[in-house]
Amino acid sequence: MVKFIDEVDIKGKTLFIRVDFNVPLDQNRNITDDTRIRAVLPTINFCLEANAKVILASHLGRPNGNHMDEFSLAPVARRLAYRLHKKVILAPDCIGPEVDKIKKTMKKGDVLLLENLRYHAGEQKNDPDFARELMKGVDIYVDDAFAVAHRAHASVEAVTHFAPICVAGFLMRDEVLYFHRSMEDPARPLVALIGGAKISSKLGALLNLLKKVDKLIVGGAMANTFLKAMGLDVGKSLVDDSLLKTAKDLIKMALKKKVKFYLPVDVVVADRLDKRAETKITPVQEIPADWMIADIGPATVTLFGEALQNAKTIIWNGPMGAFEYDAFSRGTMAMVHKVAETYALTIVGGGDTDVALHKAGEFQKFSYVSTGGGAFLELMEGKKLPGIAALENWAKRNSNAH
Ligand code: ADP
Ligand code: MG
Repeated sequence: MVKFIDEVDIKGKTLFIRVDFNVPLDQNRNITDDTRIRAVLPTINFCLEANAKVILASHLGRPNGNHMDEFSLAPVARRLAYRLHKKVILAPDCIGPEVDKIKKTMKKGDVLLLENLRYHAGEQKNDPDFARELMKGVDIYVDDAFAVAHRAHASVEAVTHFAPICVAGFLMRDEVLYFHRSMEDPARPLVALIGGAKISSKLGALLNLLKKVDKLIVGGAMANTFLKAMGLDVGKSLVDDSLLKTAKDLIKMALKKKVKFYLPVDVVVADRLDKRAETKITPVQEIPADWMIADIGPATVTLFGEALQNAKTIIWNGPMGAFEYDAFSRGTMAMVHKVAETYALTIVGGGDTDVALHKAGEFQKFSYVSTGGGAFLELMEGKKLPGIAALENWAKRNSNAH
C-alpha cells in the first residue's frame, strides 16, 4: 500500500513535490490551459498550511537534457504565484550548488519551483546520481504527478531510494482511488465505452477490459476494424488490416466471457475528412466504397445510450468520431450528454476525450476525469505503474520504521 501525504507529519518539513506542470504554451509562451497547475493546488496548500517548505519539480516539453530557455518553467512560476496568491521563487536549475544554496535559505511557508527536470539527461535515464542531487536537503518526497506515473524517470522512481520518506499527494490519491472504484472494485454493471483513432494503441486495454466489464461499447475509428473483421465493407475508413484477426478473436472472447459487446449500427460517412466534405448517414451495411466513417450515427447514439441506462459504473476513453470537425462531432457530443445523464459513477481518461467533455460543456457532471492520458491507458491495460510501484516499494521497505 502507498502511504499518503496526510498520513505523515509534514509540519515545518522540507517537502519535494513532483508535479506535472507540462502545460500547453502558445507561440508567445503563454499558458493556454492551466488545469495541471490547478490540479495540484490542494496538495500544495495542504503543505503550506502545515508551514512546510515546498519545493516543486516538473518537466516541460522535450529539451532532451539541454538547458534551453524556451522550455523554462518561468511562465508556470508566474501562473502558480497567481493561483496560490503567493510569491513563488524560480530556481535557475533543478540541481547544483546554486540550487542547494537557495534550498538552505528557504523559510517555512516558502515555495520554490525548480527549473525543468529534463534540462538534465539523468531525469529520463532514471539516473541515481541525479536523483540523489534532487533529494539533497529533502525530508519528504511527495509524488503528485500521475501523468508521468507510467515513466520510470529519476524524479519519479530513483528518488524513492534517497528520500527519507516517500508519499503520494492528493491528486495521485484521487486518480488511484477512482480507478480502483471503476476497474478493481466497481459497482456493477460496469460498462466501458472505448473509441479513438487506433485500435493498435488500445489493444492491451481492450483485452484487459474484457476480463473486467459487463458491457463493452466500441465506437470511433477503433470500431472500423471490428466492422471490417465482421465482413462488412467499410470503404475508405481508417482500418488496421493487420489486426483483423485479433479483432475477430476479441469478439469471440467477449461472447465466451458473456461480455455484452456493442458496435455502431449506423455511421456518418464522408467523402473525405474535411469541413467541406460531403456527408450522409448510413447503416453500417451500406457504406459506399469510396467514402469513410467519420462518426457514429443517430441510431447508434440511441443504442449506446440504452446500453448505458442501467450502468452503475462507466469508464470512458476515446471519442466516437473525428469530433474536431463540427460535422463529425455530433456522435461524441451526444455520448457526452448520455454518459453525463446516467446515475453511474463516471470515469473518463484520454486527452482528446477530455477536450470533448469541455466542448460539450459537461465536464463538471462527470465523477472523475483523469489528468493522465498515457498513465490512465496503462492502468486500463492492467499494468503496474512504475511511479506507484516505487511508492509501494518504499512503504514496504519502511513498514516498521514510520
Ligand atoms: P484519447 O486522446 O481520448 O485517448 P485518441 O487519441 O485515441 O483519444 O483518439 C482521438 C482521435 O480519434 C481524434 O483525433 C479523432 O479525430 C479520432 N477519430 C475518432 N473517430 C474517428 C474516425 N471515425 N475517423 C477518423 N478519426 C477518428
Ligand atoms: Mg489522444
